[in-house]
Amino acid sequence: MSDPLTYFQYRNGILSAEELSLEEMASQFGTPLYVYSKEAFKNPFHAITTGLAGLNHLVCFAVKANPNLSILSLLAKEGAGMDLVSSGELKRALRAGTDPQKIVFSGVGKSASEMDEGLAHPLHSFNVESVSELRLLSARSRAAGKKTRVALRFNPDVDPKTHPYISTGLKKNKFGLQRAEILEIARNQKLYPGIEVAGLSIHIGSQILSLSPFSDAFLKTKKMAADVESSLGKPLQFLDIGGGLGVRYRNEKPPTIAKYTALVQKNFGSKSDVRGRYRILLEPGRTIAGNAGVLVSRVLFRKSRKNKDFIIIDAGMNDLIRPALYQSYHEILPVNEDHRKGKSRKCDIVGPVCESSDCFASDRPFSDRVAEGDLVALLSTGAYGMSMASQYNSRTRPAEVLVDGSSYRLIRRRETFEDLIRDEVVR
Ligand SMILES: *Cc1c(COP(=O)(O)O)cnc(C)c1O
Repeated sequence: MSDPLTYFQYRNGILSAEELSLEEMASQFGTPLYVYSKEAFKNPFHAITTGLAGLNHLVCFAVKANPNLSILSLLAKEGAGMDLVSSGELKRALRAGTDPQKIVFSGVGKSASEMDEGLAHPLHSFNVESVSELRLLSARSRAAGKKTRVALRFNPDVDPKTHPYISTGLKKNKFGLQRAEILEIARNQKLYPGIEVAGLSIHIGSQILSLSPFSDAFLKTKKMAADVESSLGKPLQFLDIGGGLGVRYRNEKPPTIAKYTALVQKNFGSKSDVRGRYRILLEPGRTIAGNAGVLVSRVLFRKSRKNKDFIIIDAGMNDLIRPALYQSYHEILPVNEDHRKGKSRKCDIVGPVCESSDCFASDRPFSDRVAEGDLVALLSTGAYGMSMASQYNSRTRPAEVLVDGSSYRLIRRRETFEDLIRDEVVR
């Protein structure tokens, strides 16, 4: 199990990514800067595949968690497939060298042209979330002279007990198909001549911190699969059990990957009631990327109020939106270990963006030694960090660096002002 500091530790008093000092990275590439650890991506991926040994399975990294081409390429080289939610992500996955047969095209709102793009490659399958989508996909697939494998996304109505914005498997959520709709489709498969109903998929939410929602969802999915099979008159080939396993940001105790995969084995493995007869697809994003990156930022100003200080850093909500969007917690550490000593004061650590929600931590105890010009690192920002970054306030997006032991590579250069205005005209 990785925690925020597994791959980012103090070495000789300086917070480092694997063997490289973040101070050195910051002086070379500037701040704000995303720094990733290669090992940190590889380890959870291999923990999943090891835990699922003996079970026919495919781990598809959820591209949206961290779509950088170098990250996708490193995972593809390790054998990962990819889970996509747009044609942009499809292009990225292919550009990064992913085997198309390991690609799953998910997403609640694919356009016809996105479908056509997907259909142009021998993808593993499409996950379909509405009857209208199925009708359109069937027609496009037929027009392309294909019979396309789909999994119907089943909304199992389980509460993942996570933040409402990242819960997706409740009846009230926009995602997936209801039981009755799925059975109706299965009974009338011939209405959709361009597709083959070959599986079911679920994805109940993100940052899930206990096994019981998964357990409930797996049971409901198996029951649903049996019902679909009797309506279809033939067995399903695969079940896509989605992503969602939480990681540690602070003091959460998410189930270990080993416990999670043991639950998958128990439900779907050779000794389970379904005797390993389904290929199992997984779509982890955060589990693989969450603790694989940090955002390094420099303190611009520090100002004192009676009962707290404001520490204004050069990273803003445009660079990392999770705290503003989901009230999420990120550990923030001074890069220089000496700055952890000293007297602790209550601080708001905020960005430069003109929004009150541009706040990374409020009333957080922080050392009075951290001064203007010093570096801090926002931990656990490998997933949904750079991926959700924007140019709000006309801020250029950060650079990204991938560290491998004591070597490193710039995997995305810092955006420039020219990048920002490239598609605009003055008239
Ligand atoms: C976002 C998403 C995932 C990944 O979720 P994590 O919580 O990052 O594991 C997987 N599948 C689908 C369909 C998604 O939308």
